[in-house]
Amino acid sequence: MADVYKKMSKSGAITIPKHVRTQYGIPGGDAYKISVKDDGDIVLQPHTPRCIFCGTAEHVTIMNGRGICAECVVKAKEALLHGE
Ligand SMILES: [Zn+2]
Repeated sequence: MADVYKKMSKSGAITIPKHVRTQYGIPGGDAYKISVKDDGDIVLQPHTPRCIFCGTAEHVTIMNGRGICAECVVKAKEALLHGE
């Protein structure tokens, strides 16, 4: 994804653009862990892992830093096997 630049409000809020939230399955209203790395980078991690395909928080596993639920794993496997 191309870098996105956003201005922080005076109260410290930053809005994550809708296209980024849609692409990565990030719903509003969830809790996030905020960490500041030694080099000053700030990292946001979902406190509740969600499936990037359907948005559920049920039976989600993290693969390559993104969540996928058991149901979507089955759908993805079927799509790969049957070309859908
Ligand atoms: Zn899913």
